[in-house]
Amino acid sequence: MVLTGDYHTHTKYSDGKNTVEENVAAAVKCGLREVAITEHGYAHWMQGISRKKTAEYVARINKAGKEAGIRVYAGLECDLQGVSGKVDLLPEEYENFDIFLMGMHVPIHYEHLRDYRFGWLSMPRKILHIPPTKSLVRYTTRAFVNAVEKNPIDIVTHLNYLCDTDVAEVAKCCRDYGTYLEISSKKGHFTDNELEKAAATGVKFLIDSDAHSVKRIGDTERAEIQILRVGIPLEQIDNIDGRAPTFRFAEYKKHL
Ligand SMILES: [Zn+2]
Ligand SMILES: [Zn+2]
Repeated sequence: MVLTGDYHTHTKYSDGKNTVEENVAAAVKCGLREVAITEHGYAHWMQGISRKKTAEYVARINKAGKEAGIRVYAGLECDLQGVSGKVDLLPEEYENFDIFLMGMHVPIHYEHLRDYRFGWLSMPRKILHIPPTKSLVRYTTRAFVNAVEKNPIDIVTHLNYLCDTDVAEVAKCCRDYGTYLEISSKKGHFTDNELEKAAATGVKFLIDSDAHSVKRIGDTERAEIQILRVGIPLEQIDNIDGRAPTFRFAEYKKHL
């Protein structure tokens, strides 16, 4: 599989090791046509970028893109904050960014006290392999579905990492709204069965590195092994073999 674009990378603006310019140079070096810089969102109290730094961050990405000669997207990997579907990127902030990722992370500011369930309750269960309760799965699934319905999210990152959802339900919603499901090459997040169920809905996937250092930009190995083992139709993956994704957020912004 030849990756055309890597749409999930971090730099020193959150918990990555390298600079924006170094990430872009690494993308050029490994032959990518496109790369996105996607720092953790504003509600992430350990690693999120601050609103204060946003203008500098975006300007640096745009400058690096102009100099590199490949498409460089300025983005965020936003956080799911509540069952309502609330995420930490507000419509009035959309103009700052080109790409909108969203995933569940634990050390974040949740919308309501009850929303701590899907972070702080799910994580220890997942680590200790304790099956989740049905109500917890329903709650977390509802949160993802509401988020995809209410926000023009391009990519749901590492679904089911440290949490449990009904993957087919989330995948159907992503399919209907034109949101990609990520297959991460950084960490295992779908079981083979979950990936198979997601693919059966017809949802489109992107393979992303979630690189936190330049060494991993463009890396697909872990994702590729699982994709081939499960037998996912490669046409469902929109950033390989010369294909380029169509992003919902950019389309949404055209109509603002
Ligand atoms: Zn993440
Ligand atoms: Zn990430």
